[in-house]
Amino acid sequence: TIDPTSDAAIAASVTPRPIEEIGARLGVPAADLYRYGHDKAKIALGFARAAEAKADGKLILVTAINPTPAGEGKTTTTIGLGDALARAGRNVAIALREPSLGPVFGSKGGATGGGHAQIVPMQDINLHFTGDFHAISAAHNLLAAAIDNHIYWGNALDIDTRRINWRRVVDLNDRALRSVVVGLGGPGNGFSREDGFDITVASEVMAIFCLARSLEDLEERLGRMVVAQTRARQPITAGQLNVTGAMTALLRDAFQPNLVQTLEATPAVVHGGPFANIAHGCNSVMATRTALGLADYVVTEAGFGADLGAEKFLDIKCRQAGLAPSVVVIVATVRALKMHGGVAQKDLGPENVAAVSAGTSNLVRHIENMKAFGLPAVVAINRFTSDTPAEIDAIKAACAAVGARVHLCSHWAEGSAGALGLAEEVAALAEAPSAFRPLYDSGLPLVQKIETIATRIYRAGSVAIEPAALRKLAEFEAQGYGDLPICMAKTQYSFSADPAKRGAPEGFVLPVRDVRLSAGAGFVVALCGDVMTMPGLPSRPAAEDIFVDETGFIGGVF
Ligand code: ADP
Ligand code: MG
Repeated sequence: TIDPTSDAAIAASVTPRPIEEIGARLGVPAADLYRYGHDKAKIALGFARAAEAKADGKLILVTAINPTPAGEGKTTTTIGLGDALARAGRNVAIALREPSLGPVFGSKGGATGGGHAQIVPMQDINLHFTGDFHAISAAHNLLAAAIDNHIYWGNALDIDTRRINWRRVVDLNDRALRSVVVGLGGPGNGFSREDGFDITVASEVMAIFCLARSLEDLEERLGRMVVAQTRARQPITAGQLNVTGAMTALLRDAFQPNLVQTLEATPAVVHGGPFANIAHGCNSVMATRTALGLADYVVTEAGFGADLGAEKFLDIKCRQAGLAPSVVVIVATVRALKMHGGVAQKDLGPENVAAVSAGTSNLVRHIENMKAFGLPAVVAINRFTSDTPAEIDAIKAACAAVGARVHLCSHWAEGSAGALGLAEEVAALAEAPSAFRPLYDSGLPLVQKIETIATRIYRAGSVAIEPAALRKLAEFEAQGYGDLPICMAKTQYSFSADPAKRGAPEGFVLPVRDVRLSAGAGFVVALCGDVMTMPGLPSRPAAEDIFVDETGFIGGVF
């Protein structure tokens, strides 16, 4: 049975418009839409390329305070704001990530918004959608096969089988695959060695897919990936395995942005979905730039809190893609600020104004941080039914004290009508030319880039980089990778590397345990803690609730 208040039931109560109509709102002719059923389409590459070359719309970034288990609602707010701009008569498109299958069957649920601010068809988007992630898995695993095959046929490149850093991928949460041995069963099966699987969204192919500007750029970046070392410790690139043409062939169709709609028929381009941890965590550059070429306003989301997600969106994606956002929206909730103010998850029910006030330290720091990028920030309070007027006033007071604009938003309950005030404010702020500047200069030494992010955004007192990581950074610089931006891999729950430190900690030591080169994606990953690249399933996975009825309706995806 279907709960009538569930996201799936709300989504099912609205009949989507034919996708040609949504395309027409953006000026995409039906002939340039490759349809997947009635309500999903890819925008033909030629048309998308012409649009992205223009990319002259205003870009609005939705980000948030540090996440808590209480939930913030970035995706829901991105959709609600997009719908509200459309309701206010603006020509708008939403740009979002495609969800990974793993978390859909785990515990996180879907990535298509909630309540009356959703994109549809939510089941399809959360499951196979248009097959992009399958194509990315296939391209990634083709390269893995090519590496083992190269060794099998004589290993002309002298690949050191102990130093292969190209693992295999599958887009499911499967902890049993984290460490495996491949090549067992005798000489006919190659050389046995330790290997492992990552979830597809953690693949560097995914990060490249999301940063590439064209198919040519995609193939070049694939070729630059460092996949192993020789026994003399020289880097071996994917290009040396000669399969980047075949990988690009597998990715060609997927590279075209996907078009869907919100419950209010606002166009949404949903494309690509890199891990927000070891990668940059936002939808493809192709999608964002195509949307900017077709709409006057594009609302997009960056994963995690603003310290991680927005910083990487701005310093990695915007810098690489030549994008300059106009406005940043910071989503906050009473529940999450209460947790930042020291309340445990089980005690979130009763009103606690003092805790909300204390927790606003986290919000205020994110507001200040956006100024470091030259960007105006507006706060969106994503209203939950349990919020009390006094708790909401506490957030407004904290914003007023630092001169920040704030809007109470109820798009989850009401759709576009609930975010009209926010939409007007955002549209007004977007009138001014963007004063966006990245946080640091790409010419700075890698260590100083890490220190700049840690001290200016996280407010760490100092950074402690492991000696082995320091040596690697020096090596990357010697190999010509010194100009790359940094991709921080840190817990999303705190400004510090300790997830338990809520609120606005300062003066702490930020540990950098290891660094990794993503030469194709074009960044150096700094690992500030253990990073899980293959999640596991919880004791009761969400997969146990998913079913199909005799009409074909898929329930239990939320
Ligand atoms: P994020 O993008 O920040 O991870 P989402 O927008 O995906 O967050 O929302 C996370 C979950 O919280 C979703 O299941 C959504 O339905 C729910 N949610 C969001 N906003 C509200 C709200 N105002 N009231 C109740 N539930 C909400
Ligand atoms: Mg989200």
